[in-house]
Amino acid sequence: MLEGKVAVVTGASRGIGKAIACKLASLGATVIINYNGSKDKAEEVKAEIENAQGKAAVYQCNISDYGKCESFIQKVIKTYGSIDILVNNAGITRDGLLMKMSEADFDQVIDTNLKGAFNTIRFASRQMLRQRSGRIINMSSVVGVSGNAGQANYAASKAGVIGLTKAAARELASRGITVNAIAPGFIATDMTEVLPDKVKEACVSQIPLGTFGKPEQVAQAVAFLVSEDASYITGQVLHVDGGMAM
Ligand code: NAP
Repeated sequence: MLEGKVAVVTGASRGIGKAIACKLASLGATVIINYNGSKDKAEEVKAEIENAQGKAAVYQCNISDYGKCESFIQKVIKTYGSIDILVNNAGITRDGLLMKMSEADFDQVIDTNLKGAFNTIRFASRQMLRQRSGRIINMSSVVGVSGNAGQANYAASKAGVIGLTKAAARELASRGITVNAIAPGFIATDMTEVLPDKVKEACVSQIPLGTFGKPEQVAQAVAFLVSEDASYITGQVLHVDGGMAM
């Protein structure tokens, strides 16, 4: 289905990004596994994909750095000749109540989750415009839609990702490029593993389908949005959250 396509997945060394990388590779795409610090884990994802006869390469880049993003994306284009799919998945949390949140924690979350997505779109979309085709998926969150106490920085970044998605969708539509966001609820990854058991129980009680989601369930949604079946869908937010936001 995705044979001959080049897919960049940011933050693909772990969690949801890893599941997306494996899924897109299983559908035939050559997957660029981006990571920031977890080199060994990124290499493990590459090995897993190659063991399943897929194609993958590993690229380190701190996506919050505009200049480094430019060289990262340019290197991919020079090596592979195209970028057909861009999944802006990399993200961090630095939780804390608003009154106690440091400026550094606010800035770091916005720089990674929101500016990071802008940075890669800024450079990858230039190539997609030349190709007159492309698919961009941005990872938002249920929290970007509903807010969450203790996550002012994260909620702002994820709401910002929705605005970025809609603006980019309008700008790029005329050249055959679709831009959509996915808003996961609580998904079992390192990000949610750190939550205290009491908080996890409280989270589950807010999920109509009654359990945390799996990274693979988010990856399925990405696979749909980059497929031909989704060619008339752009500027949308697809909720993969067990019914949390409705
Ligand atoms: P995770 O397990 O913590 O993994 C985060 C990934 O992002 C890692 O691969 C990490 O790379 C990468 N990353 C972080 N900062 C980066 C940077 N500056 N440059 C490049 N890569 C960077 O997170 P996850 O749970 O899979 O979440 C993935 C995405 O889904 C995030 O955007 C998150 O906000 C969103 N989301 C998650 C949930 C959830 O419940 N898990 C819910 C809603 C939305 P390293 O390994 O190199 O650090």
